[in-house]
Amino acid sequence: MAYIVAEPCINCKYTDCVEVCPVDCFYEGPNFLVIDPDECIDCNACVPVCPVEAIYVDDELPEKWTHYTEWNAHLADQWRELGYNITEKKDSLPDAEEWANKEKSEEDILTWEGAE
Ligand code: SF4
Ligand code: SF4
Repeated sequence: MAYIVAEPCINCKYTDCVEVCPVDCFYEGPNFLVIDPDECIDCNACVPVCPVEAIYVDDELPEKWTHYTEWNAHLADQWRELGYNITEKKDSLPDAEEWANKEKSEEDILTWEGAE
């Protein structure tokens, strides 16, 4: 079991979640965050602080977002190797409000140059 960041996080990135994680298992992309499923200790601390309800325990992920389980594992590996562990809150993205209510999909997730 692990906790998963799903679609509502895309382009929001308020990063309240990273401050409460006791094991620093969040990794940061240009417009999305993921949780490393091997490092997450299932404490649930991040769920209530996410303002857009983007985080779910994997077996409670809404059906339409179940593919985010794989995305979190894959991107966490990639972004860890590139050094993008995030442990402190940052300002939200400038267009976070505009994106908060937009239709999104995994195709909107940006990644770092040099990643595959
Ligand atoms: S608090 Fe929620 S929306 Fe913000 S970065 Fe964390 S998971 Fe994403
Ligand atoms: S459930 Fe706990 S350990 Fe897992 S990502 Fe959230 S705060 Fe971190």
